[in-house]
Amino acid sequence: VLRLEGVRKSFGIGTPAETEVLHGVDLVLERGEFCALIGPSGSGKSTLLNIIGLLDRPTAGRMDIEGQDTSLLDDAGQTRLRGHSIGFVFQYHHLIPAFTAAENVMMPMLVDKGWPSAAMRQRAEELLDQVGLLRWKDNLSSHMSGGQQQRVAIARALAMQPSLILADEPTGNLDTRSAEDAFQLMRRVNREQKTAFLIVTHNLDLARQTDRIIQIVDGRIVEGNTGLLA
Ligand code: ATP
Ligand code: MG
Repeated sequence: VLRLEGVRKSFGIGTPAETEVLHGVDLVLERGEFCALIGPSGSGKSTLLNIIGLLDRPTAGRMDIEGQDTSLLDDAGQTRLRGHSIGFVFQYHHLIPAFTAAENVMMPMLVDKGWPSAAMRQRAEELLDQVGLLRWKDNLSSHMSGGQQQRVAIARALAMQPSLILADEPTGNLDTRSAEDAFQLMRRVNREQKTAFLIVTHNLDLARQTDRIIQIVDGRIVEGNTGLLA
């Protein structure tokens, strides 16, 4: 689903503060892979996720998503590909507090346009059922616990049946029990729907439960079992 070749990213180009954060990242993710992305603070994990999620463009290198060379797409093309191929789960779930659980899950469908409202509502209910929150569909998201809110965010990420879900410290803000639940939910989605996951985490216990650990150190990918994981 994903291929990166020599991806570089600099910030502050043309200013005295110019710095390169990603120094040539090569990475291939196959369909249905369940991966952790780990690395020290400031190593470039979020920067890499933003590039993969088409929220930011690389300074150099090539990235293909579902076989499409993303550098050939204009902004509208990138937005369309992002909407259909990629789901996002963040540490601070970015739910809309004044919306109900169901309304939050409907957001990607609203953005996609053209969905009849009954179909959106039905799809939202299916998704909330999958994450065990059907009974909570009409509750305001701000009235739900952190763990429940993160499960709503996972349901929302699944709305368009993406082939890849990017999660930036999805459990970083949760207690141990809710973190484990959210992680197991993502694992189940991965197994049942063959959705690939790339999960940024500082939690090595969770990282070890994935199929593959990708480590980023100083803007470069180091794979396999190094000291950090011993
Ligand atoms: P953490 O584990 O703390 O979330 P991270 O691995 O996600 O860290 P990034 O957020 O990707 O790290 O940041 C990598 C480097 O890029 C840092 O030195 C950061 O200051 C810098 N950086 C990130 N975004 C920008 C930006 N928009 N402008 C300038 N520098 C940035
Ligand atoms: Mg980060």
